[in-house]
Amino acid sequence: MKNDDLGLDTRLAHCGRSPADHSGTVNTPVYRASTILFPNLAALDAKESARLRYGRRGTPTTHALEDAICALEGADKALVTPSGVSAISIILMSYAEPGAHFLVTDSAYGPTRKFCEFTLKKFGIETTYYDPTIGADIETLIRPETKLIWMESPGSQTFEVQDVSAITEVARRRGIVTVIDNTWSGGYFCQPISQGVDISVQAGTKYISGHSDLMLGTIACRESEYDRLREAYLRFGLCVGPDDAFLALRGLRTIGVRMAQHHVNGLEVARWLGEQDEVLRVMHPALPDDPGHTLWQRHFTGASGLFGFVIRAVDRTALARMFDGFTLFGMGSSWGGFESLMVPSNPSVYRTATTWEPGGQTIRIHVGLEHPADLIREIRQGLDRLR
Ligand SMILES: *Cc1c(COP(=O)(O)O)cnc(C)c1O
Repeated sequence: MKNDDLGLDTRLAHCGRSPADHSGTVNTPVYRASTILFPNLAALDAKESARLRYGRRGTPTTHALEDAICALEGADKALVTPSGVSAISIILMSYAEPGAHFLVTDSAYGPTRKFCEFTLKKFGIETTYYDPTIGADIETLIRPETKLIWMESPGSQTFEVQDVSAITEVARRRGIVTVIDNTWSGGYFCQPISQGVDISVQAGTKYISGHSDLMLGTIACRESEYDRLREAYLRFGLCVGPDDAFLALRGLRTIGVRMAQHHVNGLEVARWLGEQDEVLRVMHPALPDDPGHTLWQRHFTGASGLFGFVIRAVDRTALARMFDGFTLFGMGSSWGGFESLMVPSNPSVYRTATTWEPGGQTIRIHVGLEHPADLIREIRQGLDRLR
């Protein structure tokens, strides 16, 4: 459903469901299907144009989710895949050809980088990593064989905000496709396609799910890119299970209220962290003194609960005292659920175009939907255990 007159929250309450087609049930049911039967030979002969044809190629449940992703991202078309990483790989493979050159932000999610380094490289596709704050100077890195520019804003682990409009302006002029990893905003606080980007990819595993209980990738795109993406998607045979599609649709219904609360809670914790002696720096683009603040204001309508901070250097034993004593903050991969998480990170090790030397221990925090005062108390106690 694409009705631009309606507010995003209204669209999210109504997209991807049609009770009249499902005995009046509010939600699109879970369709379990491999074989889909055709009523007669004429229908079988016309299967190329049938919307339902075979389970791997989509069911009413996954189609409903694709429609909902279009509404969320303001996209013409969408595809859903079994994980964020599979969505990323499908996009990169769609534009890969011998001799091609890709430009990828130095702040990209680790596995995005690994796909370029380990998979694409073997087939003669070269990747240049660029400074996430490069802006319009991206033009200096473009070669005749440059086929794709990959952005991620704010960047994984380090949270630099990119000048998406400046980069897409250059890319359009030079006929190069642009992709952005939009997972941080959940698609709720940022619609990159309206800012000139061609393809917006998300780990639906994070905020779309919102409950840390499913794996999902989403690809939202302009009509012009759809056939190429769908071709790669079909060739890999990657499809989303019906329960996961159903849970993602259920998660989407509350993404608005969840994101609004992540914004408020995250900022409260970020502001407090900024006032602590042990904290050298907070990387949160909604803080007025963050280097990406102006760009964040231009491109986003809010901030999610994920950000970073740097504490004074401590040895691993002291760090373990801090982390092992947490009861509200969990330690683990992923984020975007209702619960808070915290992990130490080390972005210095994989950067090639830029360096990350913050002068202390970098930490990634996901502020969940708990009461911020409880989270702040727990962090205060954790910082005390460093001594
Ligand atoms: C988690 C994540 C992904 C990958 O998603 P999975 O569903 O875990 O495969 C991609 N991009 C970003 C920014 C992520 O944080």
